[in-house]
Amino acid sequence: MENTIISPFEFAAKHSATGTTIFAVMSALAAQHNAINLSQGFPDFHIDEQLSRLLGEAAREGHNQYAPMPGLPALRQAIAANFKSRYGVDIDADKEITVTPGATYAIYTAFTAILQPGDEVVVLEPAYDSYIPNIEMNGAIAVPVSLSAPGFEVDWNKVKDAITPRTRAIIINTPHNPTGAIWSKEDWDQLADVVRGTKIVVLADEVYEQLVFDGQRHYSVLEHPELRERSFALYSFGKVFNITGWKIGYCIAPPAFTQAFRRIHQFVSFTVNTPAQYALAMHLGNDTATPVHLVMQQKRDHFLSLLKDTPFTIFQPAKGSYFQIAGYERISGLPDMEFAEWLTKEIGVATIPVSAFYKNKKDDKLIRFCFAKKEETLNEAVSRLKKLG
Ligand code: PMP
Ligand code: GLN
Repeated sequence: MENTIISPFEFAAKHSATGTTIFAVMSALAAQHNAINLSQGFPDFHIDEQLSRLLGEAAREGHNQYAPMPGLPALRQAIAANFKSRYGVDIDADKEITVTPGATYAIYTAFTAILQPGDEVVVLEPAYDSYIPNIEMNGAIAVPVSLSAPGFEVDWNKVKDAITPRTRAIIINTPHNPTGAIWSKEDWDQLADVVRGTKIVVLADEVYEQLVFDGQRHYSVLEHPELRERSFALYSFGKVFNITGWKIGYCIAPPAFTQAFRRIHQFVSFTVNTPAQYALAMHLGNDTATPVHLVMQQKRDHFLSLLKDTPFTIFQPAKGSYFQIAGYERISGLPDMEFAEWLTKEIGVATIPVSAFYKNKKDDKLIRFCFAKKEETLNEAVSRLKKLG
């Protein structure tokens, strides 16, 4: 009998993004060409000794079976206590916190909990590359609104113009990947003005909340009582304890929103890696390491001082996150994707082209460097970049 050929083109496309995510592409290219990888955002240094010891202990002591569906109670309580001490906000650990396998998953799950086909979601661009595919996987429509270069502030008139009766949600990200911009308290007030009287839900991607520099501070949606009532706030332990590969995060949302979130979560992942939850529950609040924003600010400053001897243009230092945006107009006229490939292959430094963060691949001739690296990694990267002139 003839074998039936099943073509992948018959499968539902689900979203409009083509090809493979830029983070996979650039990290693979870096490995292939033995380049220093300043592309994908992950630290290359050792994690806190106490945290790795706790992870080993958790496995040895037998914490190896399914944790409760919303997350280990001890971890949820530790998260609530941590937010109380840092932001002064009260969070109900049972009704408002769900532990997730990373923030990417939490964002997808929040969208899946709320979106109906045909709903619109406002996305501020440049935007983290999973947002728009996640919206489209739910049959909804992403409505991009550009942030204003070079500071990448929000143009609130543009946001107001993007709102229609079909707008179901807006997703915002502060501190911002890829630009390093941060929201002021006034930005949250402006958002409250825009959504007041509507049924628009806010997704606040706050994964870099602990990475704010120069004595500034992060304002969380949880500190804004009016917005908090209509928001999912999404977090990642990856960025706090330099453990991006543990893929563990959480969602904080009002009880009814949390119920809707868990309605999906229980059938997609159900629960999260138990030893990691156990280790984080013990570590959170007992962490004596230098605060991560001070470590990362020093790395940013070191990297920026080295970059002065290269032809890259720094429009403004990152105010938060792992990332620094730079212009290369004095080096090349290539489109940013081609420039990033060339830089990886010929100079040996991998970066991310910023066009990857736009649905229409808008090319402003900018690249993103990740500076969450050991000093010697940054030194070696810039010694290569100095060849550029
Ligand atoms: N949001 C933003 C803005 C990010 O940069 C990242 C990348 N780490 C995530 C979400 C996802 O975090 P996680 O690795 O926990 O899925
Ligand atoms: N958040 C990281 C970045 O922006 C990467 C996460 C991923 O690889 N999906 O580089």
